[in-house]
Amino acid sequence: MSEADSTRASADRHVLLAHGKAARMTAGTGDTLVIHEIYRSIQGETSFAGLPCTLVRLSACNLRCRWCDTPQAFTGGTRTPRSEVVARALSLGTQIVLVTGGEPLLQAGALPLMTELCDAGRTVMLETSGERDISGVDARVHRIVDMKAPGSGESARNRYENLALLGARDQVKFVLADRLDYEWARELIVREQLQTKAGEVLLSPVHGELPPKELVTWMLEDALPARMQLQLHKYIWDPAAQGV
Ligand code: SF4
Repeated sequence: MSEADSTRASADRHVLLAHGKAARMTAGTGDTLVIHEIYRSIQGETSFAGLPCTLVRLSACNLRCRWCDTPQAFTGGTRTPRSEVVARALSLGTQIVLVTGGEPLLQAGALPLMTELCDAGRTVMLETSGERDISGVDARVHRIVDMKAPGSGESARNRYENLALLGARDQVKFVLADRLDYEWARELIVREQLQTKAGEVLLSPVHGELPPKELVTWMLEDALPARMQLQLHKYIWDPAAQGV
């Protein structure tokens, strides 16, 4: 077992102990999923920002990012037949469907769910923490893969093997709390030449912590090949609003 695998296994044990209820809740065959909410809004981030989008938010997460803005999805949710999840998502009528969480890849049903949404002709996006293996995701899905910077408190959980799996339809996202986070992301982007591996490299300032202007200044000084993004929904609605 490599050092990274050992660190991850140790962290997994910690999370399973601390959040055993959530882990049991999401276990299953894949015929059902624990759903936090399904609703229609606009896509708030990525190169799809501003477009109408149906969000399928799955319950539970095995990480605890310090600045997480969806802690309400850590627990609870309703176990729902996958066929019903697909029907509800399609009924909202948007071309884009985002499967998000929590961490969607904790649930066995997430992979067939995305395939069925693709089969139905939808443009499907997955937002994942970067801790889970993304290799089983349908090749038609746009995978938005987070890389957790030190300020999240979860950077030891990054699965660097995922970087080699990225393709032109995928996007790598960094949420940055401060200069230290920025320098960590810059080093990874330059070392791995992430702009050549993924379709987009996204930098997001933590809302209310890192002023966007500072991030833009740093990116321009370094000529960093990345896209700065703001979470549109936090400007359209109250930043604390849920289900928007
Ligand atoms: S991975 Fe996402 S849902 Fe989980 S704690 Fe981090 S930000 Fe929140």
